[in-house]
Amino acid sequence: MADRAWPPLFVIAVEILLLALFCGASAGDRDPSYRDCVESCQSSGCIGDLCFSSCNASTFSGKKEEEPIYLSITRWDCPSECRYQCMTRREDERALAGGKPVKYHGKWPFDRIYGVQEPAAVFFSLLNLFAHVWGLGSFLSTVYYELPRGRKGPYYEFVGLWTVYGLLSIHSWFWSVVFHTRDTPVHESWDYSSAVATLGFSLILAITRTLSIKTEAARVMVSAPCIGFIATHICYLNFYEFDYGWNMIVCVVMGLSQLLFWLVWAIVSKHPSRLKVWTVGLGTLGAMLLELYDFPPLGGQFDAHSLWHLGTIPLTFLWWSFVKDDAVARTSRLVKRNQTVKKVE
Ligand SMILES: [Zn+2]
Repeated sequence: MADRAWPPLFVIAVEILLLALFCGASAGDRDPSYRDCVESCQSSGCIGDLCFSSCNASTFSGKKEEEPIYLSITRWDCPSECRYQCMTRREDERALAGGKPVKYHGKWPFDRIYGVQEPAAVFFSLLNLFAHVWGLGSFLSTVYYELPRGRKGPYYEFVGLWTVYGLLSIHSWFWSVVFHTRDTPVHESWDYSSAVATLGFSLILAITRTLSIKTEAARVMVSAPCIGFIATHICYLNFYEFDYGWNMIVCVVMGLSQLLFWLVWAIVSKHPSRLKVWTVGLGTLGAMLLELYDFPPLGGQFDAHSLWHLGTIPLTFLWWSFVKDDAVARTSRLVKRNQTVKKVE
């Protein structure tokens, strides 16, 4: 996911775009040797002398391997275990013959660790999650404990929106952790849905903040159609058809729209922290280029996608730093305006 304002906007758009690429057949699983191995493994429960207890075959021809608890916790069943074991063996053969790694079922051959399918992507997704936890906590602490407050609460008018954005991002990265731990249809569905929800809300936030919409009625007018569309889209994906192509179009349009809002706003408003906005934007674009260079995992762990997740960690910290700067700058302006009004009165 994944996993997600600029970090939300492009991170999620690219995440979904790449997840879409994960679908469909790849060179590895088109290989007849691999197919034969998986078929034989699923029917016999064994590959050569090694048999897998998750297969529950009535008669094992070889040595039965007791399944470690972490494999059942991470839901490695017979078909997935057979695929992984056959992939590993086939890749060893290919390496010995001087061949390069190939993808299987849309994914590079990663070395799992304690049942975790893509350890590096999981670790970096966790760091993104903690970056949002830290960012949201730091923002709320600044707004409620460091900045002056009026009778009705903080002066900054966008506290609620940024809070919801932070919570949605945390939720989204949680499902990115789960999805990269084990790629199953249910995990994929949650990862996509949470990413779409966060991306959709980021668009509402981008429009509301950049156009400085403060009245409840105007906010409802912006939010209602967006929320209606996002909810319908998520229902369509989960209950009608999981259309990767259509989903990609929806996410790219939402991502590019909010990018445009922030970019133009950063120039027009001459915001004191506009450099941070630009850095996050350009940094995200740079990380995207890295992602486009799709190479096999270095050391069986670090592929372009996991490094993309690594790259978004500092961008997330910088983005929350901008959000805090925005709260400070806006509060300072409103306090000064209040003091001026009192003097005039
Ligand atoms: Zn990911």
